[in-house]
Amino acid sequence: MCRRIVINGRLWEGDGSGRWIDEVLLLPLEAVVERLGASRHWIAYPQELEMEKDGKTLNIKIGASAAQLQGEKIPLDYPAFVEKGVVMVPVSLLCRFFELAWTYAEDVDAIVLSRAEPALLGKRIVLDPGHGGDDPGIISDDLVEAEFTWDVARRLCGLLTLSGAAVTFTRQWDETVSLAQRVMVVEEVKPDILVSIHFNSFLCSAHNGLETYWYSNWLARQLAEHVHNGILEELEIPNRGVRESAFHILRQAPTVSILIKLGFATGDGDQHILRDRWLRERAALGIFRGIREYIEACLSQM
Ligand SMILES: [Zn+2]
Repeated sequence: MCRRIVINGRLWEGDGSGRWIDEVLLLPLEAVVERLGASRHWIAYPQELEMEKDGKTLNIKIGASAAQLQGEKIPLDYPAFVEKGVVMVPVSLLCRFFELAWTYAEDVDAIVLSRAEPALLGKRIVLDPGHGGDDPGIISDDLVEAEFTWDVARRLCGLLTLSGAAVTFTRQWDETVSLAQRVMVVEEVKPDILVSIHFNSFLCSAHNGLETYWYSNWLARQLAEHVHNGILEELEIPNRGVRESAFHILRQAPTVSILIKLGFATGDGDQHILRDRWLRERAALGIFRGIREYIEACLSQM
């Protein structure tokens, strides 16, 4: 089984899940078609499905060892089959037809499918996982900020890379990097945007919620708003708003920069986000969509 299907940065919430058979991953056709659109024509005998999208046709015969794409024979790793009325198709075939890249995020049992996004293709993005190495950041009970900022950044990197963006980190796992060194990475890479990830803390566990910061730059404010809203779509977390603040990295990094405080490591409501890797993946999905929307809205016309 593969429980979760993520397509173009969004979890598919329909019925059905992926299936691994002989190391081949098959997906319910419906999930991909519903999200990406294609016309379908079912021929009852012989059981055959004809799909069309953007002038391309794909013929899949149930049980056959090959499919036809634009009349060309495509051998299949595993034949398509019908199970409880659901047509299951090898992911490689779907990716070829819909021009998708895919990856399997094993630790959250999710297949992630993504189009190369024209808006993201070749865009340079620097991700700054807060703290690391000798600087653990906030420590609250068993939670260590540096570990979770790294984890979210790593997940976000996977999503961005799959969509064609070029990602650079300001630090590697467990590396000690000063704020000045982080700024130097940005100066060197000259990215389109910088996204810094942190968690928040407070003396009182009743403080919970998401804050996203920008500084002195209209584009950064746009980016902050898109990303903030993207996260709120994915997580049930109190909204503490998009704010302006002169954090060192926001002041010094010579690009459109934001800093996310992805909940309170000390908060009794937010701690479950840090503890649950699927919620961290969802946070990354929200940030990913926010970045994509920002680039589509603000950078594409420039
Ligand atoms: Zn921090």
